[in-house]
Amino acid sequence: MIMTYSQNNNDMPTPHFRVGEFKCKCGGNHGIKLDCELVEKLEELRTYLDCSRIIINSGFRCPEHDRRVGGNGGGMHTKGQAADIVCYDRQGDIIPAGVVCCAAQEVGFNGIANIDNTYTAVHVDTRSGSKWYGDEAVPGGTSSSVCEDFYEYYPDVKPVGEIKTGMIEIDGVKYKYTLEKA
Ligand SMILES: [Zn+2]
Ligand SMILES: [Zn+2]
Repeated sequence: MIMTYSQNNNDMPTPHFRVGEFKCKCGGNHGIKLDCELVEKLEELRTYLDCSRIIINSGFRCPEHDRRVGGNGGGMHTKGQAADIVCYDRQGDIIPAGVVCCAAQEVGFNGIANIDNTYTAVHVDTRSGSKWYGDEAVPGGTSSSVCEDFYEYYPDVKPVGEIKTGMIEIDGVKYKYTLEKA
């Protein structure tokens, strides 16, 4: 269910996320649209990855703000169904996008994409009826899916429980990650 909250609402729909974290960054005084399923799945993702925190870089966007940041004014962020996130592990290190994408697939997000060249920020959304597994750092990764299964796209990533710590190499850059079964 998609809720509309007032601009200053700071309720916690789930134990680790506040409505205010999803507020539009335009600075305007308008309500906050937020899909309950989005927050519930983010909570599941947080548990799955055993995150110390998940930062919401962008949640709800009004159509004007969506266009200002390069959207078409009608995407999943404008419906309150999307979040751009950075996940941190227990050591305070950023969990690489490849690991987060696989985890987001595990918890059932239908829209998932790496969204930056350093592979640290991930877009997730609760679209229904279709899937988009993207990678905006590669040509075509914005408009169409790069894969049907992120474990094939990021072959060094293993499901939680099979591996606890390791390195993932993306474009020649090595990232350390730690996964512990929650
Ligand atoms: Zn706005
Ligand atoms: Zn996004």
